[in-house]
Amino acid sequence: MVIGAGPPQSAPGIPAKGARFIVASSGVHQSSPTPVGHAIVVGGGMAGLLSARVLTHHFAQVTLIERDALPDSAQHRKGVPQGRMLHVLLPRGREIVERLFPGYSRDLEAAGAVPLRVPADGLLLSPAGWLDRRARGWPLLSASRPLFEGIVRRRLREVPSVTILDRHDVTSLLTSPEGQGVIGVRLRPLENAGTITRLEADLVVDASGRGSRAPQWLAEAGYPTPTATHVDPNSAYACRVYRIPEGFRADWKLVMLTSAPPSRPCAGYLFPIEDHQWMVGLIGAAGEHPPTDEDGFAAFARGLRHPVIAETLAAAEPLTPIRSYRGTANRVWHYERLRRWPERFVVLGDALCAFNPIYGQGMSTAALAAQTLDACLRDHRRRHSVDDLDGVARRCQRRLAHANADPWLLSTREDLRYPTTTGMSVSPMIRLVHRYLDRVIAAATHDPTIAERFLQVAGLMTRSTSLFTPRVLLTTARTRPPDTSTLPSSAPPARPPIRTS
Ligand SMILES: Cc1cc2nc3c(=O)[nH]c(=O)nc-3n(C[C@H](O)[C@H](O)[C@H](O)COP(=O)(O)OP(=O)(O)OC[C@H]3O[C@@H](n4cnc5c(N)ncnc54)[C@H](O)[C@@H]3O)c2cc1C
Repeated sequence: MVIGAGPPQSAPGIPAKGARFIVASSGVHQSSPTPVGHAIVVGGGMAGLLSARVLTHHFAQVTLIERDALPDSAQHRKGVPQGRMLHVLLPRGREIVERLFPGYSRDLEAAGAVPLRVPADGLLLSPAGWLDRRARGWPLLSASRPLFEGIVRRRLREVPSVTILDRHDVTSLLTSPEGQGVIGVRLRPLENAGTITRLEADLVVDASGRGSRAPQWLAEAGYPTPTATHVDPNSAYACRVYRIPEGFRADWKLVMLTSAPPSRPCAGYLFPIEDHQWMVGLIGAAGEHPPTDEDGFAAFARGLRHPVIAETLAAAEPLTPIRSYRGTANRVWHYERLRRWPERFVVLGDALCAFNPIYGQGMSTAALAAQTLDACLRDHRRRHSVDDLDGVARRCQRRLAHANADPWLLSTREDLRYPTTTGMSVSPMIRLVHRYLDRVIAAATHDPTIAERFLQVAGLMTRSTSLFTPRVLLTTARTRPPDTSTLPSSAPPARPPIRTS
C-alpha cells in the first residue's frame, strides 16, 4: 500500500513522491519481482549502505540519508567515531558483502587491504595457550574501517536507483494520520538547520547506529516504549597506527593476544592494514582500561600475556596519536516484543543490537541484517501484491532478533566471565558452558580440527551449536581445562606449511 499525506515537499535532488515507481529489475537478483516504490535508509554506516543495496532489489528508488558529509574516498568521519579503532571484517560478513557487491574483495585488495590466513599467518594466544596454526581457518582481508566502508559506499554510488543525501539529519518519523504506519521522515539539512523537510517513502529503515533515536521517535508517534538489555563488561579500547619498519621480517603477519578472563582482562591485537601500516589495539575489560599516554600505552602492551607486541612496537614509528573508545557495552532493544509496531518501519544494525566489539561481529551482523531484510521482503512479496507491505516490518523485526541471537550469546556469554560485568546474572547453565568452552579452547591449542571448528564459530561461519557435537564433546572430555591465571608456557608456534585442502 502506498500512503500519501498531502503533496510532499521533496528534499533537493530527491524525486518527489506521489507517482509510483515501476522500473525494470536491475538483473542482480533475477528472482525478485519488479522493484516498486521508494525506501529510505537512515544512516550511511555499514548497516545502512548494505541495507540500501538490498532494498534496490525491492524498491524502484532508495534514498540513503546521512548526517555526515560522505567523502569519495576512504576517510574517517565524525559520525563513525569508532572508525579509528581496530576493525576486523569476519569471513561471514565479507561473504555477504561480496554477494551484494561482486568484486568487493578484489576492490578491497586493490586498495591495499592485506590478505591473510587465520591462524596460519598469525600468533593467536587464546586463554589456554597458542592456537594450533595448522588449522585451515579462514582467509581475511585486513584493512582500516574507513577502507571497508569506503569501498562499499563507492560501489553503492554506482547503483542508479540509489540517491545518497548526505549532510542531512533525520529528526523524526512521519506517520500516517491513523498512526498505524510510518510514511517517511522529517529531515533537516545541516547547512540550514532551521528548515525541516518531509520525505515520504513506502519503507523506512533506521540504521543510524548506537545513537539511534528510534525509541524517542516511536514514543512521539504514540507507540509503547521498548525495553533494552545492556550487558557491560566495562571495557575500553586504545588504538594507534604505526608504520611497518622497512625490512621487517617475522613468520607472522598478525598477532592476537586475547584476554584470559577473569584474572587477565587485557588484550592486544596487531593487524597489518593498507599503506604498509599496523593497526594496534590494546583493550582492557573489567575496568582495566588501556592508558592513552605514551608511557602508559607501552606499559600496558608490556603487561600483556606475551611481550611480542610490545617488543615489535619498540622499533616501529607511530603515525597517529593514541586514541581511545569507551562505548563498548552490549545493548539490544527488544522491538520484537512490543505489542504494537508501526507498519513499514525497520530498525537494524547497531541501532537495534550493538555488541562488545572485541569479538569483531558488528559489521558482519550488519551484513547479516541486510540479508535478513532482503529475505523478509522477498518472502513477503512472493505472497502479497507488489505494493502491499502490511505486516512485513514486524516480521522482519522478529527475524532480525533471531539472527542476532547467536552473536549476542557469543559476546555476552564471554563477557559474563568477569564477575564485574553488569546487566545479566550468570546462570548455572552459563557456568557449565564456560567450563565446557574452556576445554574446547584448550583442545584448539593442539588439535587443528577443533581449532578449525572454533574459528568457524568465531568467524560467524557456523552457529555456536557446532561446538557441541559428539566429536567435539569426545575430544574435550580428554582435555584438561586451562589455568588462565598463568602465562603461556611455550614459545609461539612457528608458521606451518600452507594447507591448501
Ligand atoms: C571500538 C569499536 C571497535 C569495533 N570493531 C569492530 C570490528 O573489529 N569488526 C566489526 O565488524 N565491527 C566492529 N565494530 C562495530 C562496527 O563499527 C559497527 O557495528 C558496524 O559498523 C555497524 O554499524 P552501523 O552501520 O549500524 O552504525 P554506524 O557505523 O555507527 O553508522 C551509523 C551512521 O548513521 C548516521 N546517523 C546517525 N544518526 C543519524 C540521523 N539522525 N540522520 C542521519 N544520519 C544519522 C551516522 O552519522 C553514521 O554514519 C566496532 C565498534 C567499536 C565501537
